[in-house]
Amino acid sequence: MFERRLTRQILVGDVPVGGGAPITVQSMTTTKTADVEGTLAQIYALAGAGADIVRCTCNDPEAAEGLAEIVPRSPVPIVADIHFQYRLALAAIEAGVQALRLNPGNIRKRDHIQTVAQEAKDRGLPIRIGVNAGSLDPEIAERHGGATPEALVESATRELAYFAEVGFDDVKISVKASSVHLMIDAYRLLADTVDHPLHLGVTEAGPPPQGLIKSVAGIGTLLSEGIGDTIRLSLTADPVEEARAGRTLLEALGLRERKGLDLIACPSCGRAEVDVIAVAQKAQAALEERQIPLQVAVMGCVVNGPGEAREADLGIAAGRAKGHLFVKGQVVRVVPEGEMVEALLHEAERIVEEGVEARLAAADAHAAEEADADRAALLESQGADANRAEERKVHIREITG
Ligand code: SF4
Repeated sequence: MFERRLTRQILVGDVPVGGGAPITVQSMTTTKTADVEGTLAQIYALAGAGADIVRCTCNDPEAAEGLAEIVPRSPVPIVADIHFQYRLALAAIEAGVQALRLNPGNIRKRDHIQTVAQEAKDRGLPIRIGVNAGSLDPEIAERHGGATPEALVESATRELAYFAEVGFDDVKISVKASSVHLMIDAYRLLADTVDHPLHLGVTEAGPPPQGLIKSVAGIGTLLSEGIGDTIRLSLTADPVEEARAGRTLLEALGLRERKGLDLIACPSCGRAEVDVIAVAQKAQAALEERQIPLQVAVMGCVVNGPGEAREADLGIAAGRAKGHLFVKGQVVRVVPEGEMVEALLHEAERIVEEGVEARLAAADAHAAEEADADRAALLESQGADANRAEERKVHIREITG
């Protein structure tokens, strides 16, 4: 619909950004990253609401250690948000994140920046240069007489130059501001200056409706000019609302397809008990054919699946040659593994006809007990650290300690 500015492309995990790829929606968790289960539940909720990429703060060593457990179990790529301490960027890389966000305004030493860039280059992950008008390098701000579009762009291009000195260029850029005018002018200038993919956002937009209006005005204006490859619609609200709003904006502009079914699947990790991709593909085809307008989760294990995807209307998790069918995180039936997709379809149709509450009331009385027993047996056989996160944590402690 709009002619898009052509940029180079980067990969955040398996999600392409720029270079003609569909514009992606990002959001950020509000939990403490050290709270692994709480953060994962929010990540699943964000993925279900339309987020393609999720950012988590990595503000202390405990957060970095949390990331070592979160990343292998996240359904979408994780970006670690780094402020001030470059060692936390190295720790986040060790935790396995798919990208970093660095703020040039608060990690300013060239050798620190280049150490991080070199490590990102060696491990093959991209960095977002995330300039923010509110935390602009004071030296640049002073020279430009404040946070002008030119000052924001200079902060980004100076960081790019530092990266270039170590041969690193796997970068996307943002130049956010809370002023819609400033943000629009800065992105326009940036788009004329570099060919990197751009991450759009208005910072400190505030609660809805004001926050929503400011973000839509700023991001929507740029998107309609063909500028922007990934967006975050920041709101002072539940981040699920911002993911949903970002998705809706892209759909309204004809930049993403509307979808009735939201199928989320876990990435499959050391605990997986089934070929998640095959089951998810089969389930997606069957649910789409029946035009089921629900959020449905396909999860690789019964240990964490129902809990991680508890925001989904319906889901199935595999374990011990069985499928645990769950509604809003509560296991309602246990079926043989070979009948997982069939059971999912049947339950989806019942939910559409009768509603979630009625299906919860009709749950098999023994399902929860059987689910607990399967979960306990799997934990016993696989051990508590199926993803070997503890090993990574030891390295993280060496880096941050
Ligand atoms: S296999 Fe289990 S723990 Fe691993 S990502 Fe899937 S649901 Fe989460």
